[in-house]
Amino acid sequence: PDAVRLRSVRKIHGTGTGSVTALDGVSIDFPRGTFTAVMGPSGSGKSTLLQCAAGLDRPTEGQVTLAGFDLGRQSERQRTVLRRDHIGFVFQSFNLVESLTAAQNVELPSRFAGRRVRPEEIAAALAAVGLTRRAKHRPSELSGGQQQRVALARALVTRPDVLFADEPTGALDTTTSREVLQLLRRLVDQEGRTTLMVTHDPVAAAFADAVVLLKDGRVADRITLDRDPRSH
Ligand code: ADP
Ligand code: ADP
Repeated sequence: PDAVRLRSVRKIHGTGTGSVTALDGVSIDFPRGTFTAVMGPSGSGKSTLLQCAAGLDRPTEGQVTLAGFDLGRQSERQRTVLRRDHIGFVFQSFNLVESLTAAQNVELPSRFAGRRVRPEEIAAALAAVGLTRRAKHRPSELSGGQQQRVALARALVTRPDVLFADEPTGALDTTTSREVLQLLRRLVDQEGRTTLMVTHDPVAAAFADAVVLLKDGRVADRITLDRDPRSH
């Protein structure tokens, strides 16, 4: 079964003469338990694809199915709950709250959205990203890679069906990027966490199972990568 499915998705930003077709008829499946990299030139529609697939943006036409739910048939409120309970999102910028500890950064967004996460779930999420001993640190006391791992723990604490990552290593150096990518890879391999990652970096894309190449809002190519268990 597919964790995410797009059918003939078109997305037009804006209206009239100022409108831009960001996605121009995209049909694609993201099977459960796989790691897919979405690549393509700037402006090719990568972010829009991620936003539509995650239910953060509405397609102009076409159908998006996420974790078995047809997003077009969901009310605004149902989609809010769906996002809260079924997806996790990480960005290039870590978007952590400076005044909160790592553990609070992991806990509070879910709680503000009306879902209480238990202390053992917070501990498990921090352990999964190797930050058990940093639970009480604030973002300024952590390296960039550690901050991105806190953001990852925050995205994973609800054990979402799908993790969306938009340029997760865009602000990190080579060594730290590799750590974060190895972690994403391990989460897919060990927990079957379906992951969609937008990246410009071919080295990052090589950690995925498949690469979807976008061009001018269309799928130009889809490449399956043979995974050598000894690599990385
Ligand atoms: P990418 O992530 O590949 O750089 P985007 O999905 O961000 O591509 O953008 C695709 C196209 O849609 C670009 O031409 C961009 O300027 C336009 N676009 C994206 N978001 C918006 C928006 N909110 N309003 C207007 N145009 C947008
Ligand atoms: P990226 O290449 O990482 O997608 P962008 O600069 O294209 O970065 O987009 C950053 C954010 O701004 C995205 O959320 C996108 O939807 C929005 N955006 C992009 N282009 C436009 C635009 N022309 N008008 C309004 N919002 C835009």
